[in-house]
Amino acid sequence: MHHTTAISPSVDSTIVLRVLRALAQHPGLTRAELATRADTSRPTVSAALRMLEDRGFLEQRVEADERNIGRPPMRVFLAGSAASSVGLEITRTELHAGMFNIAGHVLSQVRAPVHDFDDASSLLDDAAMLVRKLLDRHLRATAYVLGVGVAIAAPIDHEGHVVQDVSPTRWTRVNLAQELSERLGLPVSVENDANAAALAEHRFGAGRSCTDLLYLRLSAGVGAGLILGNRIYRGASGIAGEIGHLTIDPRGALCGCGGRGCLETLTSPLVLEQQLRTVRRAPVEDGWMSDGDRHVRRLLADAGDAVGSAIATAINLLDPGRVVIGGHLAEAGVVFFDAIDAAIVRDAIPSAAARARVVPGSLGAHAPILGAATALISRELEVLVGG
Ligand SMILES: [Zn+2]
Repeated sequence: MHHTTAISPSVDSTIVLRVLRALAQHPGLTRAELATRADTSRPTVSAALRMLEDRGFLEQRVEADERNIGRPPMRVFLAGSAASSVGLEITRTELHAGMFNIAGHVLSQVRAPVHDFDDASSLLDDAAMLVRKLLDRHLRATAYVLGVGVAIAAPIDHEGHVVQDVSPTRWTRVNLAQELSERLGLPVSVENDANAAALAEHRFGAGRSCTDLLYLRLSAGVGAGLILGNRIYRGASGIAGEIGHLTIDPRGALCGCGGRGCLETLTSPLVLEQQLRTVRRAPVEDGWMSDGDRHVRRLLADAGDAVGSAIATAINLLDPGRVVIGGHLAEAGVVFFDAIDAAIVRDAIPSAAARARVVPGSLGAHAPILGAATALISRELEVLVGG
């Protein structure tokens, strides 16, 4: 475990923090752009950059495609080797951990099965073992490890506690961050899985350069992550984004939450596969979504219609500029996405519907662990500079 003394600045630490934040959110800014974003003078930015460069936090370079400009601008990046963090995703079936450098590049990933999701204590033992395996692998390769960011499919409050679940589990009231931190001797932060994935897509993926973003995670569970004004929006108690339990069909199937016809009951891949098995009277292979026969097309069109209807409600309420689709259904293809667009045009306010673009996520299955690792990095950088 590494302890770093806080950067003791000749420069105001809040300026250093603003510079770090700006570089984490917008890699490749010029000094002039940094001064604007950090709301300070260019000499002050230069002093902050010198200090960070002395500590190995920065890389400055001219971009290849700008070399033929008369005086190409020097662009500033966080140095990938300066520090790293671990992202850990806990689902009902699997633990997935990845080591990331401070620039957001994955160094390696490991997975392990979950034997009993409801036994929080032994699951956290397994999680700690998996993270240790990853840390051992990179003992020499990374400068130091800032900590572990966890993504879990449960609402998380402002203090990082699991607040409650739509289906009862023993995770409620578990202080996940503290329990894992004690097992590992490292700082741990906790984030809802959809929020974590939203953060990753916003910073590195299909939601880049978007101020207001709705991220939808469509897997066995359905959740949304909201980025409003470049920040995660949690709501008063951490429940914001439980779009999976929006009622779409009041006469639909009963849901685990006690409602009927929730979005989740209409889009869960498990439900869709069950319907396909029934009509085909045969087992359904992985990858059935790309089969393209009439049954699959109908299932995906109907699921897209339900998703589009839910998105239309969110558009009318929040007016996000972009909607990013992640999870298993992100791979569903053009039939699914066309049905989403058609439902939005039908159900949303025309001007907002015209502006909002719905796109598949570009980071795939590692969006949640990247987002969780990134959230941890942001938090620990603040600790490091005493912000
Ligand atoms: Zn429900």
